[in-house]
Amino acid sequence: MAIDFTLAPEHEEIRKRVRAFIQGTVMPAMEQVKEDDRDEYLRTIFRLRTQAKAEGLWLPHMPKEWGGMGLGHVELAMVQSEAAKTRVGPWVLNCSAPDEGNMHTLLHWATDEQKEKYLRPLLDGVSMSCFAMTEPEVAGSDPTLIRTEAVRDGDEWVINGHKWFISNARRANFAILIARTEPDVPAGSRGANTAFLVDLPNPGWIDVREVETMHGSTGHSEIVIKDLRLTDDQILGGRGNGHRLGQYRLGPARLAHCMRWISQAETALDMMVDRALNRYSHGSLLAEKQGIQWMIADSAMELYQCKLMVLHAASKIDKGEDFRTEVSMAKHFVAGSLNRIVDRAIQVHGALGYSTDTPLANMFQHARWARFADGADEIHQMRIAERTIAAYQSTGSTSTATGGLPL
Ligand SMILES: Cc1cc2nc3c(=O)[nH]c(=O)nc-3n(C[C@H](O)[C@H](O)[C@H](O)COP(=O)(O)OP(=O)(O)OC[C@H]3O[C@@H](n4cnc5c(N)ncnc54)[C@H](O)[C@@H]3O)c2cc1C
Repeated sequence: MAIDFTLAPEHEEIRKRVRAFIQGTVMPAMEQVKEDDRDEYLRTIFRLRTQAKAEGLWLPHMPKEWGGMGLGHVELAMVQSEAAKTRVGPWVLNCSAPDEGNMHTLLHWATDEQKEKYLRPLLDGVSMSCFAMTEPEVAGSDPTLIRTEAVRDGDEWVINGHKWFISNARRANFAILIARTEPDVPAGSRGANTAFLVDLPNPGWIDVREVETMHGSTGHSEIVIKDLRLTDDQILGGRGNGHRLGQYRLGPARLAHCMRWISQAETALDMMVDRALNRYSHGSLLAEKQGIQWMIADSAMELYQCKLMVLHAASKIDKGEDFRTEVSMAKHFVAGSLNRIVDRAIQVHGALGYSTDTPLANMFQHARWARFADGADEIHQMRIAERTIAAYQSTGSTSTATGGLPL
């Protein structure tokens, strides 16, 4: 049994290039942009995207035949975490949510025509997308409850409904929209929903507002869908497959979130240690106080667990093995660790941590949604428990539900 996380020389080379590009080019360029100058912000990002593409640091998650870097999920983990040292890094490399998850979805589920029309421009960086599933009226944790309805009218579908928290909606050239098409499937059962590709803007897609959140008004829209007319060729992945498609999309996308969160958690831990080494109180540096050392130690242990869980889940995806439990565990654990580590870093910084003079306050605001978006903590716990019980019932042991490791 080999446990070896050493990167192949060519992947180590990629890691170094990504790090150099993010730290040497992206970070300095973004530091020059004034916070409230949205146009300058976008112009800078698009200039950096052109540069990333020219340097071959583009689409790390996509196969080479589609213009990507052709990395496996293990290698992707190191690229995503290098890129996420700055919030815009994954966007610059064209591997950020929600486009990244939509690319995987289109690659797997779209027809050849749909791939040319929707996937190709997304990969080329000339279009953007959104994924519209969550609704204010029903629990997003249970997509079988979706009320947005598509009804047949001759050769067309007429869709009415209400969505919110649709990331990227204002920038998107198209949406993957989940709607109920099968009235005979009882509410609460799978098989009722279908995914549609919607060209934007569209008169039937009404942008109500960008929802103001804990981290500001940063691109999560409320949308009313009114008499939106679509044809059969805009169905993605077949009728009644909307639930399966959503789950397929979320698997690797959740792990990609974890890869980026690890990077944020590591930044917070670096800052915690740096502050502790430079702040003096009651006769010694904070770094010499046991109370502070415990926070550092707890954070280091958690981050180590996060990295192992993500690498292991990624290796399961690469090997074509069932990865659902491991990804659920990683998503739950990394989201929680990120919140705890950033919180401790703020604690060690005191008032400075609470100010917006450091990135910690903003990181904390963003970290909070990690615990319920893309599957709330409790949903992952429910699924993990179900699979653990099922493993015990079928084999007499829970061993296969704890990573399937030979221990
Ligand atoms: C920043 C951000 C970006 C987002 N982007 C998108 C997007 O692009 N597209 C999109 O469609 N959606 C998006 N969402 C929505 C997100 O996917 C939902 O918030 C998530 O699925 C949870 O749904 P909900 O908010 O309706 O919470 P609910 O389903 O109402 O759940 C609320 C809470 O109830 C508890 N709970 C729910 N079910 C159970 C259960 N079975 N057992 C125990 N406890 C339970 C959990 O604690 C959960 O946090 C985004 C959300 C955020 C915050």
